[in-house]
Amino acid sequence: MSRQFFVGGNFKMNPATQEQKRSLVKVLNEATIDPSVEVVLAPPAIYLLTLKEILRKEIKIAAQNCYVKASGAFTGEISPAQLVDADIPYVVLGHSERRTLFHETSALVAQKTRVAIDTGLSVILCVGETLEEREAGRTAQVVEEQLKPVIELLTPKDWSKVVIAYEPVWAIGTGKVATSAQAQEAHANIRSFLGKAVSAAVAESTRIIYGGSVTASNCKELATQPDVDGFLVGGASLKPEFVDIINAKK
Ligand code: PGA
Repeated sequence: MSRQFFVGGNFKMNPATQEQKRSLVKVLNEATIDPSVEVVLAPPAIYLLTLKEILRKEIKIAAQNCYVKASGAFTGEISPAQLVDADIPYVVLGHSERRTLFHETSALVAQKTRVAIDTGLSVILCVGETLEEREAGRTAQVVEEQLKPVIELLTPKDWSKVVIAYEPVWAIGTGKVATSAQAQEAHANIRSFLGKAVSAAVAESTRIIYGGSVTASNCKELATQPDVDGFLVGGASLKPEFVDIINAKK
């Protein structure tokens, strides 16, 4: 089975002005983009609806987070039910910034994944090890520990709604990209773990994308790796080079 290449842009808490947002949209709307790629942009919550209106329709929108309940009295949180009602198809969950700065545990990320899927969203599920964990040879173990609570809460069928983003923490926003061999090894380990813990079919069909300092200059080589099914791009998604990353396979 061939897996559709997936490129996500994670704007994080950027851009700072409406003007910057408009110029980014202009670049994306006017670019030639590979129609075989699934492209998803995750802007801050305040821009979800406007970007959905003004971006070309082939580009889908994702929220960067949502709450663990569908709706209710949870001041300041993002409701998965409202995302679905607004035709926002994806949500990013478990980003390392959420895990580290906002103390989200793997158990919470798993519950959010369950609720998001139940509500009708697809999930970009982020996992990845710190430098210390990598240097201690614990990369595969750490990632498996992050995935296990999700595996416990999902049925094999639910995995069609999940894209796994392998994002080594040491590569996020640092300019230190994983080598294509490091990315391939981590992705192959995740796939083989899914094979053992869920099913061979889920392992084969689930997209595993790489994130962490992806740029126009390193994306092509990473994209040649058999288990790298796309990218989650932070900093470079705010620049015109994001178009080159979308077109990495061309
Ligand atoms: P980066 O961020 O591309 O700026 O390293 C990636 C991410 O956090 O998803």
